[in-house]
Amino acid sequence: MHEYGDCSFCGGEVKEEVAELDYRYKGNLYVFREVPGGVCQQWGEKYLVAGTAKAIEQEIRTRKEWSETVSVPVTTFSNIDVSEAKEQALREQHSK
Ligand SMILES: [Zn+2]
Repeated sequence: MHEYGDCSFCGGEVKEEVAELDYRYKGNLYVFREVPGGVCQQWGEKYLVAGTAKAIEQEIRTRKEWSETVSVPVTTFSNIDVSEAKEQALREQHSK
């Protein structure tokens, strides 16, 4: 069991969990399932010990066949109509 410090983004508690990891390497996105690591209990930020990160990058460099390949939807935030979401957020604030 690795002892993680508090989350460096939000200060939340980081606990050891086995979770799915999105990993970016040289412009590509890889998904690893059942990765042991630290997970921020507040916002879900993930922390890997150095050995795990090394093993993952090694795997990306050397693996020829992957279990599956998924397509990922992509858009740019400026393409999103935010006015509706803003109004909704305002309504929620006022109803509190
Ligand atoms: Zn956090």
